Amino acid sequence: MNPIDPNANPYAAPRAPHAHLPYAAPQPPGSYTRREGDALVHTLGANLPAVCMKCGRPDGLVPRNHTFQYTPPWTVLFFVLCNLVGIIAMLIMRKQAKMVLPLCQPCNERWRKAMIALWAALGVMFVPFVLGLVLASASETAAGVLLSLAGIGFVALMVVSFALVRPALLRTKKIDATHIWILGVHRQVLDQLPQS
Ligand SMILES: [Zn+2]
Repeated sequence: MNPIDPNANPYAAPRAPHAHLPYAAPQPPGSYTRREGDALVHTLGANLPAVCMKCGRPDGLVPRNHTFQYTPPWTVLFFVLCNLVGIIAMLIMRKQAKMVLPLCQPCNERWRKAMIALWAALGVMFVPFVLGLVLASASETAAGVLLSLAGIGFVALMVVSFALVRPALLRTKKIDATHIWILGVHRQVLDQLPQS
């Protein structure tokens, strides 16, 4: 059976390698997983196909809990017009989707390491930046060195974001009341889904 065959019986018992994933639950009525361009469109609350979302492997999967967050881009307009209104609009309009993502162990490990690198780069940027601001009145030289370090941290953050985080993680393009649009899914997985 093709693991992401759209005609597969969603009520079938999960296959042995995925028994530890919560795939035994019946799918919500009318739920689907489809492809729309480079995005995977998925009904919230339904089970994702039992293949690694990052490389397409069907075996050795581990469940990864992840909360996607999405803020409609137009809320930025409010932020430009009025910071407070913008922040309120962003908080009200922000949508979250808690999901269990099937990943193979190497892809899961790559995701974990990318997050560690991301937090490390954020630390290398923010710690010298804050210290530099604090020391600015006491020693211009020290503040200058620290702010230069923060600049290096910023470059590290950019490199880590594009070279490690973006390839290793999934991200969302949009979340509405019923569906999520996920980017970064492996081409092989997308190719086997019905077009939206
Ligand atoms: Zn994988």
